[in-house]
Amino acid sequence: MKYLIKNANFIDWENKLVVGKDLLINNGKIEYIGKVEKTSNIKIIDGNKYLLLPGFINSHFHLGETVFRGHAPNNSLQSYLDYTSKFNKKLKSEKNHHIISAFSILEAVFAGTTTISCARGWLATEESKLRGLLGYPIMKSEKLMKYYTGFTGKFNQISKKFPKLFKSGNTQISLGLWIHSLHFLDEDALYLISKLFNQNKNIRLTIHVAETKEGVKKIRKCFKGNEIEILKKFKLLNERTNLIHVNHINDDSIKLIARSKANITICPTSNLFLNTGLPNLRKFLAAGINTSIGTDGLATNYSASLVDAAKVTYFAFRNLDLKPPQLLDMITKNPAKALGFDKCGSIKEGNLADILFFKIEDSALNPIENTLKNFIFGKTILPIHVMIDGNFVVKNGKIANQKEIINNFEELASKIENETN
Ligand SMILES: [Zn+2]
Repeated sequence: MKYLIKNANFIDWENKLVVGKDLLINNGKIEYIGKVEKTSNIKIIDGNKYLLLPGFINSHFHLGETVFRGHAPNNSLQSYLDYTSKFNKKLKSEKNHHIISAFSILEAVFAGTTTISCARGWLATEESKLRGLLGYPIMKSEKLMKYYTGFTGKFNQISKKFPKLFKSGNTQISLGLWIHSLHFLDEDALYLISKLFNQNKNIRLTIHVAETKEGVKKIRKCFKGNEIEILKKFKLLNERTNLIHVNHINDDSIKLIARSKANITICPTSNLFLNTGLPNLRKFLAAGINTSIGTDGLATNYSASLVDAAKVTYFAFRNLDLKPPQLLDMITKNPAKALGFDKCGSIKEGNLADILFFKIEDSALNPIENTLKNFIFGKTILPIHVMIDGNFVVKNGKIANQKEIINNFEELASKIENETN
């Protein structure tokens, strides 16, 4: 479908407000921005009613955790992990993971997320039409053992299991490696991961780093070094690496990350929730590290909204006085770069048409001159329409099969909740 959005108001790739320009959407792309006079065979949208923003990009999300929201403990990471591991046996079937994933994605897209990065979720992401960097999980844990045993061969098979997703030219899904953290691995596994990562130059690596002080100590004991040094030693630290949290590291490690051009995704809401300590964002930014904001899973941050996460980031790092355009970059352009979705993250000619439509009469967006500030700091507003790849995935606040997704999830969630009481 070809669309012409007439007289659109939008935030452009330089984060400036543009008023009253036309956007031509064709073949999943933003083909032209300017004045379009004559049109045929095209659907016209009155852009004057909306503020358009680029789709948000969540560079750290867990699809399977939402089922624990509201009842998992939040006083420490360890108590959270101990609690969830009790249920993982029951939840590990692919069918259950798919039910929870579909629901997590539903919440994300309603909040304006058009691209996610997480482990597994291939089928649910394909069905949802969202973009995703979906990692193959490599973690020596009971829940994910079936992926761990013989992971080199299985990783190479995964794209054959989902031929529709991985056919050439598909810009929806890319496959990555997803390591929970170093303390679920040993040197032999790291050697194999390094081989996979360095032989396939288009795959990306996601890993939690230095989330808690206890975790840092454990890894230092096992590997005789800190996490960043170990990643460097195994050639796992470069511009294709996305380091998650990074709360407890020293200045030398920050320099190493900057030099290697690796990316960082901070998740302050989750850190505050679990009381794990916060990262040194000031030093990351001063070192020029590409830094994004993620939500983390929805049991350690109840909201899938990246705008909520940006708001928390502002207040968690109040002394940095982060500006609204900088916060917007951390949920759009920066994660686009970190995940390798170069044609996403801004409204620009030639970019993919991932666009959020917000109703302009919403009081939170007025006055329009202050729009970005109002948008980030005002009440959270949800997009009325969400376009991905030039198609409407959310239309008038609704998704075609939302009822079924919600019902399936509620049934499963109430089972888990009953078992906890
Ligand atoms: Zn995480």
